[in-house]
Amino acid sequence: MKNYPGNLFVVAAPSGAGKSSLVKALMELDSQVTHSVSHTTRQPRGQEVHGREYFFINDRDFDELIQENAFLEWAHVHGHRYGTSKKTIEDKITDGHDVLLEIDFQGALQIKAVFPSVVLIFILPPSWEELKSRLERRGEDAPGVIQLRLENAAQEMAQASQFDFVIINEVFERALFDLKAVVHAQRLKYASQSRARAEIFHALNLN
Ligand code: 5GP
Repeated sequence: MKNYPGNLFVVAAPSGAGKSSLVKALMELDSQVTHSVSHTTRQPRGQEVHGREYFFINDRDFDELIQENAFLEWAHVHGHRYGTSKKTIEDKITDGHDVLLEIDFQGALQIKAVFPSVVLIFILPPSWEELKSRLERRGEDAPGVIQLRLENAAQEMAQASQFDFVIINEVFERALFDLKAVVHAQRLKYASQSRARAEIFHALNLN
């Protein structure tokens, strides 16, 4: 992939690590960061709306999108398929937006393979006990499902070493500060700064 004016970030974490709340808080604070609506073959839950949380599609349509090479990445997660639209991401980062994807580790590593400048961020819980009690407090899952999620979490967390940054979500405000710091540091890289502050670079005879 060529060099784009916007940055691409991927945040992955086991369920219960607090990924969605952190990403939501970052987006509320930083209007330059946008997300992308993924496609999934799972059914909508509760208040979820087609086109807002996900594009909910059937297996046949998902197969078609794979054939058309429409996905930047796709993966099986918890028994369903999920995929990120290549065109949506390219359009947004071409327009200079920073895009932050909340996807699983398999998708994150696929993107790194085709787009090495992606910034991979892994969110860890502070302990097993805390992860378990957060899943229980959430009250969304039956005990058997929580056990399964904990087993999946062990596999997912084993991938954290392949990520560029690791944030430990012990105290929410601290973890949010860390996430903002990663996004900010990426924007200070020479290539980003020279695009964002082109007039200064030009005046200094830099390119
Ligand atoms: P949920 O069904 O609970 O919304 O999401 C389940 C998991 O799928 C989460 O870990 C989420 O990060 C992951 N996921 C959501 N969208 C995508 C996607 O487009 N690609 C991949 N690889 N994973 C995704």
